[in-house]
Amino acid sequence: MENLMYKKSNMYNDISKKKAKEIDDFARLYMSFLDKTKTEREGCLHATTLAEKCGYKPFEFGQKLKVGDKRYIVGHNKAIFLFKIGKNDLAKNGIKIIGAHIDSPRLDLKPNPVFEDGQICYFKTHYYGGIKKFHYLTIPLALHGVVVKANGEKVDFVVGEKEDDPVFYISDLLPHLSRALEQTQGKEIVSGEQLNLIVGGKALKDCKVDAIKSGILKYLNDNYQITETDLITSEICAVPAIKAREVGFDRAFISGYGQDDKSCAFSALQALFDCNSNDTVMVALFDKEEIGSEGNTGAQSKLLEDLIDEICENFNCSSRKVRMASQCLSADVTSAYDPNFKNAFDYKNVSMLSCGVSIKKYGGVGGKSGSNDASAELVGSLRQKMDRDGVVWQTGELGKVDIGSGGTIAKFIAKLNIDTIDIGIPVLSMHAPNELISKADLYSAYSAFKAFFN
Ligand code: MN
Ligand code: MN
Repeated sequence: MENLMYKKSNMYNDISKKKAKEIDDFARLYMSFLDKTKTEREGCLHATTLAEKCGYKPFEFGQKLKVGDKRYIVGHNKAIFLFKIGKNDLAKNGIKIIGAHIDSPRLDLKPNPVFEDGQICYFKTHYYGGIKKFHYLTIPLALHGVVVKANGEKVDFVVGEKEDDPVFYISDLLPHLSRALEQTQGKEIVSGEQLNLIVGGKALKDCKVDAIKSGILKYLNDNYQITETDLITSEICAVPAIKAREVGFDRAFISGYGQDDKSCAFSALQALFDCNSNDTVMVALFDKEEIGSEGNTGAQSKLLEDLIDEICENFNCSSRKVRMASQCLSADVTSAYDPNFKNAFDYKNVSMLSCGVSIKKYGGVGGKSGSNDASAELVGSLRQKMDRDGVVWQTGELGKVDIGSGGTIAKFIAKLNIDTIDIGIPVLSMHAPNELISKADLYSAYSAFKAFFN
């Protein structure tokens, strides 16, 4: 009877020494990737570095392609698509695509951020993506950004990641005075306009007005040759100044910032580099997923469609035919069952930590509204490939019916008439400054993505 029932299995049970080492080695590579890719710009840059090491060359629209070519194209410094041209018939087999995103929730500086109050200099922020605002209080924050100066010169900078770098900080009210506040709902404990970053506190000598702000502006000018006006033409993000760490005595888990969705992005990249498929295969790493896949670097942009058109033109086949024959895994994290918050989940339909990468046939809320509902045939073909390669996998919904939802890029890829399904790594504390995943699930995602390509 046992085999008639669906049961999840924990990957750490009955694991060989060799497999355990593979999981740990993969996790180590991933953790170093995570520490280097806190913003989409850095994600793009580091994916390029990895790709070049694996023999991928830059591609521009208009260039010729041939079977065996390994190329990548970068969209406006924030999205990157890598692909390998296989010998199989494009029109018949289509392209095997894995899409993930490399942007993560954080605080962005406002265009005019600097002000002084109470002997403190602040930067005002506008949060990016879905956060619980109170998470960002009293944790060390780093600034990652790019400033375009009046003469057009671009200055990149990162402050707060090195051991001896200063960090930035948002204050919270002491508990002694919080009684009234604590009676309000969690979300209102702090408002968006209160997410002001402490950036300094030393007055500029002989300065009568805004002496502390002047001190900070002088520091920025001395060190980066930028002015307050230059901040209008900048993109500066405040991100948690923390590193990826192993969690637990047995080191089963990994905590770190931005695992949504760099965990899937990294696994997809490695699967691409390590696969030997005869089909044309692609990894598409998008920006702007956290704010609805908008803009020319998000999944709603024409970039993916244009690239597929371009590949098709090179091999004299119809892009319409190729998209119809293509498949896409929308690789994005999902929620893991959290025993501390049991009521949010349907126990029978939630992903468990360490039980493998999780297939999500649909998302959406209020009767699957806003969801890409993958076909049983697509779920079936993926299941076959994963079972063939011995990949441990599971399935789960985000949470209970009608309780909430989260979108992914799946529905935007599906709009191109590409068969698309959501799959991803289960996460605890998704969108918190420090998210948690299981090393086993990370490795399972990599194995599943490789099985999909092969
Ligand atoms: Mn995501
Ligand atoms: Mn997200």
